[in-house]
Amino acid sequence: MNEDTIAAIATALGEGSIAVVRVSGQDAVGTVAKIFKSKLDLREVPSHTVQYGWIADPQEDLILDEVLVTVMKGPRSFTAEDVVEISTHGGIVAVKSVLELVLRHGARMAEPGEFTKRAFLNGRIDLAQAEAVIDLIRSKSDRAFQVARKQADGALSKQIIPLRQQLIELVAHVEVNIDYPEHDVDEVTADLIRDNCSSVLAQVNDLLIKSNEGKILREGIVTVIVGRPNAGKSSLLNALARDNKAIVTDIPGTTRDIVEESVSLSGIPLRLLDTAGIRETNDKVEQIGVERSHGALNDADLVLLVLNHHERLHEDDKKLLQQLKDRSTIIVVNKIDLPGQLELAEIERDYAKDRIVFLSAKDGSGIEDLEKAVSGLFFSGAVESGDITYVSNVRHIALLHQTKRSLEDAIQATYEGIPIDLIQIDLAASWESLGQILGDAAGDSLLNQIFSQFCLGK
Ligand code: GDP
Ligand code: ZN
Repeated sequence: MNEDTIAAIATALGEGSIAVVRVSGQDAVGTVAKIFKSKLDLREVPSHTVQYGWIADPQEDLILDEVLVTVMKGPRSFTAEDVVEISTHGGIVAVKSVLELVLRHGARMAEPGEFTKRAFLNGRIDLAQAEAVIDLIRSKSDRAFQVARKQADGALSKQIIPLRQQLIELVAHVEVNIDYPEHDVDEVTADLIRDNCSSVLAQVNDLLIKSNEGKILREGIVTVIVGRPNAGKSSLLNALARDNKAIVTDIPGTTRDIVEESVSLSGIPLRLLDTAGIRETNDKVEQIGVERSHGALNDADLVLLVLNHHERLHEDDKKLLQQLKDRSTIIVVNKIDLPGQLELAEIERDYAKDRIVFLSAKDGSGIEDLEKAVSGLFFSGAVESGDITYVSNVRHIALLHQTKRSLEDAIQATYEGIPIDLIQIDLAASWESLGQILGDAAGDSLLNQIFSQFCLGK
């Protein structure tokens, strides 16, 4: 347990209606009691109760703010230490002066992430949960938030722990076989190692497959909007973003550079890129834009190909339809408020019905169909049910890959007849790298790196 008591502002700075100063440590209650004026002595109040009163500077007999103070005695608190939270009136001045007063009366300023670090060090949460708190703070969309929430509850840890258990039992078993050899012990143990490693490997691979989806949830689906000039790309971007960041004009080819916008479609984060019209051009400036849009196309997770309902298919449209048919592409037939000229049969030849959406970027009709098509493409069923753990943290993904390599080495070694005491090294390595996800084998420097990513007060 840490000796010193730490404090920080736990809410976002700004003009919120209330702000919270969080104090944690052995002397949290004593520290706040010195500056809290009310009918009751804070040291005497029951745990998990809220007290009404004032924060006042005892030396100058100056009342700073009217507050509510919550006392949570350890270990039933976020850090597992005594925690006191002072809810002050919002506004930077009030909350800062309360924090200053707390600091002058025995607490020290918390480092970024130090509350969560203490929760981890005191065994309240494991490292995967702690990192999920970072993700919670950062997550931009509802769905990424839910995934982070689940991970904070230990969903990832729950999957890792039994795998580690299986590996440690295997290591122990092999160890016993080495120490008490019988006649064909090597053969038996090689089979045992292979079976167990394969089963753990399958589950690690499963987590890795899901991790890519985790990345999408975190960073957004990179979505490129392509189409001929004037098809309505910028209008679509605007309709989706519901503001007017891209310039919409009647002159073909105005979106020369790439405009980017982050939007959330039914909770799925998209990074929308509006490209310059894809077409052959001699105009130098536009040429640059066109080249960039080809580059963006290659990196896209999802492509929205915008076609003009009011015109016949152009050679360029046909080229794009051909080029994109094996990609994650949704065909957006735009301008359905205008009479139709587009040859739909030609599109339907290569694209399934649920990949073709009809809308008007101008009046907004059909936009929900696009939302449905996007979520259908990426989150069919599995995600909706919400019982999947996503690995969305880069460090976790790297450690899973490391585990995978050790397991594969171990399996390979059994086929090559390598002595089992050497294979043990790979088994131990895979056990250890899985453990690092939970923070079991984490050294101090790693811990500090992880926790310093937190905002202050978390
Ligand atoms: P971009 O070159 O593909 O980015 O196309 P813009 O978004 O700049 O749109 C070109 C023109 O088409 C503008 O005059 C828009 O107002 C118009 N436009 C875009 N979407 C629609 C639509 O759904 N219906 C109608 N009638 N006009 C549209
Ligand atoms: Zn445009």
